[in-house]
Amino acid sequence: SDTRSPLLRISSLTKRFGGFTALHDVSVDIRPGERFGLIGPNGSGKTTLINCISGAFRTEPGTVLFRDEDIALLQPHVRTRRGIARSFQIPRPFRSMTVAENLMVALDFAAHEHVSAAQRRDSMMSILDQMGLGPKANVSATQLSQVELRKMELARAMATHPKLLISDEAMAGLSSSEVDEVLDLLLSLASRDITIIMIEHIMQAVMRFSERVMCLDAGRIIAIGSPSEVMADQRVQEAYLGT
Ligand code: ADP
Repeated sequence: SDTRSPLLRISSLTKRFGGFTALHDVSVDIRPGERFGLIGPNGSGKTTLINCISGAFRTEPGTVLFRDEDIALLQPHVRTRRGIARSFQIPRPFRSMTVAENLMVALDFAAHEHVSAAQRRDSMMSILDQMGLGPKANVSATQLSQVELRKMELARAMATHPKLLISDEAMAGLSSSEVDEVLDLLLSLASRDITIIMIEHIMQAVMRFSERVMCLDAGRIIAIGSPSEVMADQRVQEAYLGT
């Protein structure tokens, strides 16, 4: 068992849009280094929960603690600098730039002033190599395939040196061999002690990736546990049948 405090602690989080409650009293702890899958049918609140973590939404009521700090009122870019990365929180990829230039934008966005240009370049090349994009460094982003673009998105998130990486449907629309490629990449990042929340509709990928899976339905947690426990849960099966 892990005696360290959770990396992320969400307590009694409720999110309303006018009279509509998108999240009802959600509480969950995510452990440092955990591979955590977030599932649920369309409209169940996954994106809303991720928005509350990454900062697109202020949360009221409820608390969001990241490394023991209450981050609920921090702006998204401040949360990025604290170590929470989600691809669309950094500026969108620039199609007219090379892969290397795209990565430099993300690095500059998150870097501390005392990091030299040479160090940033080293850091960029090592992230591109890690993602298998080294040979594509000087290629225009418009030349990339779908799967390479997904890898570039992950590389851009990695450029902010996250402690928590939120992978939001990184595999949608890819072939099964491409899904495996992205999955292997995420597993290799996780083995470097990066905590990962994976939101994904491709169940086999979620099941292979996750140590724990949480299923939302209509803004409530209906199941949380090992992948096999959650898949066997009758409420989970009913939630998916109903859509
Ligand atoms: P999921 O990501 O699981 O598909 P969402 O979190 O996007 O679900 O949506 C949960 C519910 O909250 C949906 O009913 C959606 O219509 C509603 N919702 C999400 N964002 C907003 C918003 N900005 N304003 C009003 N309703 C919203």
